[in-house]
Amino acid sequence: MRKLTVSTLALALVAGAFFGAGTQSAQAQKKFISIGTGGPTGVYFVVGNAICRMIHRAAAEGRKKGRKHGIRCAAPSTGGSTYNIGQIRQGELDFGVAQSDWQYHAYNGTSKFKGNAFKKLRAVFSVHPEPYHIIVGKGTGIKSWADLKGKRFNIGNPGSGQRGTTEVLMAAYGTKKSDFKIATELTSTEQSKALCDGKIDAYGYTVGVPNAGVSIATDGCDAKIINLNTGVEKKLVDANAFYAFATIPKGTYKTTDADVTTFGVMATFITSADVPTDVVYEVTRAVFENLDDFRKLHPAFKNLDPKLMIKNALSAPLHAGAVKYYKEKGWM
Ligand code: GLU
Repeated sequence: MRKLTVSTLALALVAGAFFGAGTQSAQAQKKFISIGTGGPTGVYFVVGNAICRMIHRAAAEGRKKGRKHGIRCAAPSTGGSTYNIGQIRQGELDFGVAQSDWQYHAYNGTSKFKGNAFKKLRAVFSVHPEPYHIIVGKGTGIKSWADLKGKRFNIGNPGSGQRGTTEVLMAAYGTKKSDFKIATELTSTEQSKALCDGKIDAYGYTVGVPNAGVSIATDGCDAKIINLNTGVEKKLVDANAFYAFATIPKGTYKTTDADVTTFGVMATFITSADVPTDVVYEVTRAVFENLDDFRKLHPAFKNLDPKLMIKNALSAPLHAGAVKYYKEKGWM
C-alpha cells in the first residue's frame, strides 16, 4: 500500500516537473530529430537532407546571434511514403515525406488505411509535384497500361508510395497481379538497373521531375515514359482531390521526345501531433527562412511558393508549430 503511494507520488512529481517546465523542457528532450525519406536516388532523400541542412544552418546562425534551438537532424533513406507514415505513428521517426494521396488516406482511414486512421497525423507543408511514371524498357513494345499484361512489371517495394498508387491503378483498370508475367517488388534504387539489365520490362514510380534514378533508365538504356491519360485516369483525377493530371515536359530526359501526360500527386512534409510545437516551429522556420537556398538544391524545388506550400495538397490538419510560424509571417 505504502509502496503504491510512494510510486504514485514519484510519478506525479515527474509529471509535474515535465509539464511544469512547459515547451522549453519538451524542446530540450527533442534535440535529435529524424526525417523519413525514400530511396537514395529519389527526390525525397534530397528533401530530407536539404531540410536537415537548413536546420543545422539555422542552428549555426542562431549560435552567433544568441537564438539557439539546438536541434540536430538526420534524414536516412527509407522504404518511402507509407513506411514513413507508419514510423511517425510509432514515434520512430519525427518527420517524413509522403505522397499527398497517402497523407489523405492515412488521416481519413481510407484505402490501405481502412479501419486504421492515424488521427494524430499532421501536415507541415507540401513540396514538389510527383507525376506517376510508367517507365518501359527499350524494345518491350509497351505503349499503354493494357500492354503491361503478360510482362515483367515492378510494382514497387511495400512501404513505397508508388506501390500503393500502382495498386490503386491496378484496381481502377481491373488488373490482377497474375495478369503480369511477374510482379516484382524492387525498391526505387534497384528498379532502373533491373530494367537496363533486362530483368524487368517496366516499372511504376511516383517521383519528382527530373530524377536521377529515372535517368539511369531513360538516358542510360533508352527506356521511355508512357502516357497515362485514358478515361481510367480521368475518373481517378475527377473523383479524388489529391490527384491531378501532370506533364513531364519534352526534353526532360534523352528519350522524352514529346510531352508525357500522366496523373500525379504532391510530395508533402508530415509529422505527428506528438512532436513538440517548438520543434516543429523551428523546423518550419528553418525551411522558410532559407527557401531561396532550398529551391536551388534540386530542380524539382525551383517553383516552391510559400503561399501554396502551406495549403496545397494537405489533408491532415497543420501542426500547431507550423501554424505558429505561418501566423507570425502573416500567411494565415
Ligand atoms: N513517391 C515515392 C514514395 O512515396 C518516393 C519518391 C522519392 O523518393 O522521391 O515512396
